[in-house]
Amino acid sequence: MTAKLIKGKELRQEILAEIEAEVKKIKEEYGVVPGLVTILVGEDPASVSYVTGKIKTAKRLGFKEVQVNMPESISEQELLALVDQYNRDDTIHGVLVQLPLPRHIDENRVIDAIDPDKDVDGFHPVNLGRLMIGGSVVKFPPCTPSGIQEMIRRAGIETEGAEVVVVGRSNIVGKPVANMLLQKEPGANSTVTVVHTRTKDLASHCKRADILIVAAGVPGLVKPEWIKPGACVIDVGVNRVGEKISEKTGRKVAILKGDVDFEAAKEIAGWITPVPGGVGPMTITMLMKNTLNSLKFRLGIS
Ligand code: NAD
Repeated sequence: MTAKLIKGKELRQEILAEIEAEVKKIKEEYGVVPGLVTILVGEDPASVSYVTGKIKTAKRLGFKEVQVNMPESISEQELLALVDQYNRDDTIHGVLVQLPLPRHIDENRVIDAIDPDKDVDGFHPVNLGRLMIGGSVVKFPPCTPSGIQEMIRRAGIETEGAEVVVVGRSNIVGKPVANMLLQKEPGANSTVTVVHTRTKDLASHCKRADILIVAAGVPGLVKPEWIKPGACVIDVGVNRVGEKISEKTGRKVAILKGDVDFEAAKEIAGWITPVPGGVGPMTITMLMKNTLNSLKFRLGIS
Protein backbone atom coordinates (compact mmCIF):
# COMPACT_ATOMS: atom_id res chain seq x y z
CA MET A 1 0.00 0.00 0.00
CA THR A 2 1.15 3.54 -0.68
CA ALA A 3 -0.26 6.07 1.75
CA LYS A 4 -2.07 9.23 0.68
CA LEU A 5 0.00 12.26 1.53
CA ILE A 6 -1.63 14.91 3.72
CA LYS A 7 0.15 17.97 2.43
CA GLY A 8 0.18 20.85 4.88
CA LYS A 9 1.59 23.12 2.19
CA GLU A 10 -1.51 22.68 0.03
CA LEU A 11 -4.01 22.87 2.89
CA ARG A 12 -2.30 26.05 4.03
CA GLN A 13 -3.08 27.74 0.70
CA GLU A 14 -6.73 26.71 1.00
CA ILE A 15 -7.11 28.02 4.57
CA LEU A 16 -5.10 31.21 4.00
CA ALA A 17 -7.35 32.05 1.04
CA GLU A 18 -10.38 31.69 3.35
CA ILE A 19 -8.73 33.96 5.96
CA GLU A 20 -7.72 36.54 3.33
CA ALA A 21 -11.29 36.78 2.04
CA GLU A 22 -12.60 37.31 5.59
CA VAL A 23 -9.98 39.96 6.36
CA LYS A 24 -11.03 41.87 3.22
CA LYS A 25 -14.70 41.70 4.13
CA ILE A 26 -14.12 42.86 7.72
CA LYS A 27 -11.92 45.71 6.50
CA GLU A 28 -14.66 46.88 4.14
CA GLU A 29 -17.43 46.61 6.74
CA TYR A 30 -15.63 47.73 9.92
CA GLY A 31 -12.50 49.54 8.69
CA VAL A 32 -10.17 47.39 10.83
CA VAL A 33 -7.67 44.61 10.18
CA PRO A 34 -6.24 41.96 12.55
CA GLY A 35 -3.11 43.20 14.33
CA LEU A 36 -0.31 40.86 15.37
CA VAL A 37 2.86 41.70 17.28
CA THR A 38 5.73 39.21 17.19
CA ILE A 39 8.31 39.67 19.93
CA LEU A 40 11.62 37.94 19.28
CA VAL A 41 14.36 37.85 21.93
CA GLY A 42 17.88 37.05 20.72
CA GLU A 43 18.99 35.54 17.42
CA ASP A 44 18.45 31.78 17.66
CA PRO A 45 18.36 30.71 13.96
CA ALA A 46 15.31 28.42 14.35
CA SER A 47 13.36 31.17 16.19
CA VAL A 48 14.37 33.78 13.60
CA SER A 49 13.16 31.50 10.82
CA TYR A 50 9.81 30.76 12.58
CA VAL A 51 9.18 34.47 13.28
CA THR A 52 10.09 35.44 9.70
CA GLY A 53 7.51 32.94 8.40
CA LYS A 54 4.84 34.37 10.73
CA ILE A 55 5.59 37.99 9.70
CA LYS A 56 5.57 37.16 5.98
CA THR A 57 2.25 35.31 6.22
CA ALA A 58 0.58 38.04 8.31
CA LYS A 59 1.64 40.71 5.81
CA ARG A 60 0.45 38.65 2.86
CA LEU A 61 -3.00 38.40 4.48
CA GLY A 62 -3.27 42.16 4.99
CA PHE A 63 -2.80 42.08 8.77
CA LYS A 64 -1.15 44.90 10.67
CA GLU A 65 2.19 43.32 11.66
CA VAL A 66 4.45 44.79 14.31
CA GLN A 67 7.86 43.21 14.54
CA VAL A 68 9.82 43.68 17.76
CA ASN A 69 13.37 42.30 17.97
CA MET A 70 15.05 42.57 21.36
CA PRO A 71 18.62 41.64 22.31
CA GLU A 72 19.23 38.50 24.35
CA SER A 73 20.27 40.77 27.26
CA ILE A 74 16.75 42.19 27.75
CA SER A 75 15.63 41.88 31.38
CA GLU A 76 12.47 40.06 32.41
CA GLN A 77 11.01 43.37 33.64
CA GLU A 78 11.63 45.04 30.28
CA LEU A 79 10.03 42.15 28.43
CA LEU A 80 7.01 42.18 30.74
CA ALA A 81 6.64 45.94 30.15
CA LEU A 82 6.70 45.34 26.39
CA VAL A 83 3.98 42.69 26.65
CA ASP A 84 1.91 45.09 28.76
CA GLN A 85 2.31 47.83 26.14
CA TYR A 86 0.80 45.61 23.43
CA ASN A 87 -1.86 44.22 25.78
CA ARG A 88 -3.13 47.81 26.01
CA ASP A 89 -2.79 48.61 22.28
CA ASP A 90 -6.26 48.48 20.69
CA THR A 91 -4.87 47.94 17.19
CA ILE A 92 -3.20 44.69 18.29
CA HIS A 93 -5.31 41.53 18.62
CA GLY A 94 -2.54 38.96 18.97
CA VAL A 95 0.55 39.15 21.20
CA LEU A 96 3.12 36.50 20.38
CA VAL A 97 6.38 36.02 22.28
CA GLN A 98 8.58 33.55 20.38
CA LEU A 99 9.75 30.70 22.62
CA PRO A 100 12.16 29.55 23.93
CA LEU A 101 13.34 32.58 25.91
CA PRO A 102 16.86 33.05 27.35
CA ARG A 103 17.44 31.25 30.66
CA HIS A 104 17.40 34.41 32.82
CA ILE A 105 13.74 35.00 31.88
CA ASP A 106 10.93 32.99 33.46
CA GLU A 107 8.93 31.78 30.46
CA ASN A 108 5.82 31.03 32.54
CA ARG A 109 5.80 34.55 33.99
CA VAL A 110 5.90 36.01 30.48
CA ILE A 111 3.09 33.74 29.20
CA ASP A 112 1.02 34.65 32.28
CA ALA A 113 1.49 38.35 31.48
CA ILE A 114 -0.12 38.09 28.02
CA ASP A 115 -3.77 39.17 27.99
CA PRO A 116 -5.67 35.85 27.59
CA ASP A 117 -7.87 37.62 25.02
CA LYS A 118 -4.78 38.30 22.87
CA ASP A 119 -3.02 34.99 23.55
CA VAL A 120 -3.12 33.72 19.95
CA ASP A 121 -0.53 31.02 20.70
CA GLY A 122 -3.03 29.58 23.21
CA PHE A 123 -0.40 28.90 25.90
CA HIS A 124 -1.87 31.04 28.71
CA PRO A 125 -3.25 28.91 31.58
CA VAL A 126 -6.70 30.46 31.04
CA ASN A 127 -6.76 29.30 27.42
CA LEU A 128 -5.37 25.86 28.27
CA GLY A 129 -8.13 25.60 30.91
CA ARG A 130 -10.74 26.55 28.31
CA LEU A 131 -9.29 23.90 25.99
CA MET A 132 -9.73 21.28 28.69
CA ILE A 133 -13.40 22.24 29.14
CA GLY A 134 -13.94 22.20 25.36
CA GLY A 135 -16.87 23.42 23.27
CA SER A 136 -17.79 27.07 22.91
CA VAL A 137 -15.53 28.32 25.73
CA VAL A 138 -12.42 27.55 23.63
CA LYS A 139 -11.03 30.77 22.17
CA PHE A 140 -7.48 30.08 21.03
CA PRO A 141 -6.56 26.41 20.58
CA PRO A 142 -2.74 26.07 20.45
CA CYS A 143 -1.61 26.33 16.83
CA THR A 144 0.21 23.03 16.18
CA PRO A 145 -2.51 20.84 17.78
CA SER A 146 -5.28 22.72 15.98
CA GLY A 147 -3.32 22.40 12.72
CA ILE A 148 -3.14 18.64 13.29
CA GLN A 149 -6.88 18.42 13.95
CA GLU A 150 -7.62 20.51 10.85
CA MET A 151 -5.44 18.23 8.68
CA ILE A 152 -7.24 15.14 9.96
CA ARG A 153 -10.63 16.79 9.41
CA ARG A 154 -9.88 18.08 5.91
CA ALA A 155 -8.43 14.69 4.86
CA GLY A 156 -11.85 13.21 5.75
CA ILE A 157 -10.49 10.79 8.36
CA GLU A 158 -13.03 9.43 10.85
CA THR A 159 -12.11 10.40 14.41
CA GLU A 160 -15.27 9.26 16.17
CA GLY A 161 -14.48 6.12 18.15
CA ALA A 162 -11.00 5.98 16.60
CA GLU A 163 -8.04 4.77 18.64
CA VAL A 164 -5.68 7.74 18.76
CA VAL A 165 -2.17 7.32 20.15
CA VAL A 166 -0.12 10.44 20.84
CA VAL A 167 3.63 10.01 21.31
CA GLY A 168 4.89 12.86 23.53
CA ARG A 169 3.34 14.81 26.40
CA SER A 170 4.62 18.36 25.92
CA ASN A 171 2.46 21.35 26.81
CA ILE A 172 2.60 22.68 23.26
CA VAL A 173 1.78 19.53 21.27
CA GLY A 174 1.18 16.19 23.03
CA LYS A 175 -1.07 17.17 25.93
CA PRO A 176 -3.25 19.71 24.08
CA VAL A 177 -3.76 17.55 20.97
CA ALA A 178 -4.74 14.58 23.15
CA ASN A 179 -7.19 16.80 24.98
CA MET A 180 -8.72 18.15 21.78
CA LEU A 181 -9.30 14.73 20.23
CA LEU A 182 -11.07 13.33 23.27
CA GLN A 183 -13.69 16.11 23.44
CA LYS A 184 -17.32 15.24 22.74
CA GLU A 185 -17.33 17.19 19.49
CA PRO A 186 -17.26 16.70 15.72
CA GLY A 187 -13.67 16.12 14.55
CA ALA A 188 -12.89 14.51 17.92
CA ASN A 189 -14.76 11.89 20.04
CA SER A 190 -11.73 9.58 19.93
CA THR A 191 -10.28 7.16 22.47
CA VAL A 192 -6.91 8.70 23.26
CA THR A 193 -3.74 7.21 24.73
CA VAL A 194 -0.67 9.34 25.45
CA VAL A 195 2.71 7.59 25.54
CA HIS A 196 6.04 9.06 26.65
CA THR A 197 9.57 8.35 27.85
CA ARG A 198 8.34 6.27 30.83
CA THR A 199 5.89 4.16 28.80
CA LYS A 200 6.78 0.48 29.12
CA ASP A 201 6.03 -0.80 25.64
CA LEU A 202 5.77 2.01 23.12
CA ALA A 203 5.42 -0.33 20.14
CA SER A 204 2.35 -2.18 21.46
CA HIS A 205 0.43 1.09 21.92
CA CYS A 206 1.42 2.48 18.52
CA LYS A 207 0.33 -0.76 16.81
CA ARG A 208 -3.26 -0.21 18.02
CA ALA A 209 -3.54 3.29 16.63
CA ASP A 210 -6.00 4.21 13.89
CA ILE A 211 -4.51 7.69 14.15
CA LEU A 212 -0.89 7.94 15.31
CA ILE A 213 0.38 11.42 16.23
CA VAL A 214 4.10 11.56 16.89
CA ALA A 215 5.66 14.59 18.64
CA ALA A 216 8.78 13.31 20.38
CA GLY A 217 11.65 15.12 18.67
CA VAL A 218 13.55 11.87 18.03
CA PRO A 219 14.37 11.22 14.35
CA GLY A 220 13.04 7.88 13.10
CA LEU A 221 11.66 6.90 16.54
CA VAL A 222 8.56 5.21 15.09
CA LYS A 223 9.44 2.07 13.18
CA PRO A 224 7.35 0.87 10.24
CA GLU A 225 6.37 -2.34 12.08
CA TRP A 226 4.70 -0.20 14.79
CA ILE A 227 2.18 1.14 12.28
CA LYS A 228 -1.23 -0.47 11.83
CA PRO A 229 -1.90 -1.06 8.12
CA GLY A 230 -4.11 1.75 6.79
CA ALA A 231 -3.56 4.02 9.82
CA CYS A 232 -3.27 7.80 9.62
CA VAL A 233 0.22 8.90 10.69
CA ILE A 234 0.80 12.52 11.66
CA ASP A 235 4.52 13.24 12.05
CA VAL A 236 5.03 16.44 14.05
CA GLY A 237 8.78 15.98 14.58
CA VAL A 238 11.16 18.47 13.01
CA ASN A 239 14.72 17.28 13.57
CA ARG A 240 17.76 19.02 12.12
CA VAL A 241 19.99 16.10 11.15
CA GLY A 242 22.58 17.93 9.03
CA GLU A 243 23.09 20.65 6.45
CA LYS A 244 23.01 20.82 2.65
CA ILE A 245 23.32 23.45 -0.05
CA SER A 246 19.93 24.55 -1.35
CA GLU A 247 19.54 24.05 -5.13
CA LYS A 248 17.26 27.12 -5.25
CA THR A 249 19.33 29.66 -3.31
CA GLY A 250 22.82 28.14 -3.21
CA ARG A 251 22.82 28.75 0.55
CA LYS A 252 23.34 26.28 3.40
CA VAL A 253 20.03 24.90 4.74
CA ALA A 254 19.17 22.37 7.44
CA ILE A 255 18.29 18.80 6.47
CA LEU A 256 15.02 18.06 8.28
CA LYS A 257 13.74 14.62 9.32
CA GLY A 258 10.58 13.63 11.13
CA ASP A 259 10.04 11.24 14.04
CA VAL A 260 8.76 8.54 11.69
CA ASP A 261 10.74 6.48 9.17
CA PHE A 262 8.78 8.07 6.30
CA GLU A 263 9.95 5.97 3.34
CA ALA A 264 9.04 2.66 5.00
CA ALA A 265 5.96 3.98 6.83
CA LYS A 266 4.27 5.26 3.67
CA GLU A 267 4.08 1.69 2.36
CA ILE A 268 1.99 0.64 5.38
CA ALA A 269 -0.03 3.69 6.47
CA GLY A 270 -3.25 4.84 4.79
CA TRP A 271 -2.40 8.52 5.19
CA ILE A 272 0.85 10.18 6.21
CA THR A 273 2.26 13.71 6.61
CA PRO A 274 5.68 14.49 5.09
CA VAL A 275 8.51 16.36 6.87
CA PRO A 276 9.02 19.08 5.82
CA GLY A 277 5.76 20.29 4.25
CA GLY A 278 3.35 18.51 6.59
CA VAL A 279 2.38 19.82 10.03
CA GLY A 280 4.87 22.75 9.94
CA PRO A 281 2.97 24.97 7.47
CA MET A 282 -0.27 24.34 9.37
CA THR A 283 1.11 25.84 12.60
CA ILE A 284 1.57 29.34 11.13
CA THR A 285 -1.77 29.04 9.35
CA MET A 286 -3.64 28.38 12.60
CA LEU A 287 -1.83 31.29 14.25
CA MET A 288 -3.29 33.53 11.55
CA LYS A 289 -6.73 32.02 12.13
CA ASN A 290 -6.47 32.66 15.88
CA THR A 291 -5.45 36.29 15.24
CA LEU A 292 -8.39 36.81 12.88
CA ASN A 293 -10.71 35.19 15.44
CA SER A 294 -9.36 37.49 18.16
CA LEU A 295 -10.48 40.51 16.10
CA LYS A 296 -13.84 38.84 15.45
CA PHE A 297 -14.37 38.24 19.19
CA ARG A 298 -13.58 41.92 19.76
CA LEU A 299 -16.10 42.98 17.11
CA GLY A 300 -18.68 40.49 18.44
CA ILE A 301 -19.07 38.80 15.03
CA SER A 302 -17.76 35.30 15.70
P1 NAD B 1 9.33 18.23 23.85
O1 NAD B 1 10.77 17.86 23.87
O2 NAD B 1 8.84 19.33 24.71
O3 NAD B 1 8.47 16.93 24.18
C1 NAD B 1 8.77 15.69 23.60
C2 NAD B 1 7.91 14.64 24.24
O4 NAD B 1 8.20 13.39 23.63
C3 NAD B 1 8.16 14.46 25.74
O5 NAD B 1 6.92 14.45 26.38
C4 NAD B 1 8.83 13.11 25.87
O6 NAD B 1 8.35 12.38 26.99
C5 NAD B 1 8.44 12.40 24.59
N1 NAD B 1 9.55 11.56 24.12
C6 NAD B 1 10.80 11.95 23.81
N2 NAD B 1 11.55 10.88 23.47
C7 NAD B 1 10.75 9.79 23.57
C8 NAD B 1 10.96 8.42 23.36
N3 NAD B 1 12.14 7.92 22.98
N4 NAD B 1 9.92 7.58 23.58
C9 NAD B 1 8.72 8.07 23.98
N5 NAD B 1 8.47 9.38 24.18
C10 NAD B 1 9.48 10.22 23.98
O7 NAD B 1 9.00 18.50 22.31
P2 NAD B 1 7.79 19.26 21.57
O8 NAD B 1 7.95 20.71 21.76
O9 NAD B 1 6.49 18.62 21.87
O10 NAD B 1 8.16 18.92 20.06
C11 NAD B 1 8.25 17.60 19.60
C12 NAD B 1 8.74 17.60 18.16
O11 NAD B 1 7.79 18.30 17.37
C13 NAD B 1 10.07 18.32 17.95
O12 NAD B 1 10.77 17.69 16.90
C14 NAD B 1 9.66 19.71 17.52
O13 NAD B 1 10.64 20.35 16.71
C15 NAD B 1 8.42 19.39 16.72
N6 NAD B 1 7.46 20.50 16.65
C16 NAD B 1 7.01 20.81 15.41
C17 NAD B 1 6.08 21.81 15.27
C18 NAD B 1 5.56 22.13 13.92
O14 NAD B 1 4.96 23.15 13.72
N7 NAD B 1 5.76 21.24 12.96
C19 NAD B 1 5.62 22.51 16.39
C20 NAD B 1 6.08 22.13 17.64
C21 NAD B 1 7.00 21.11 17.76
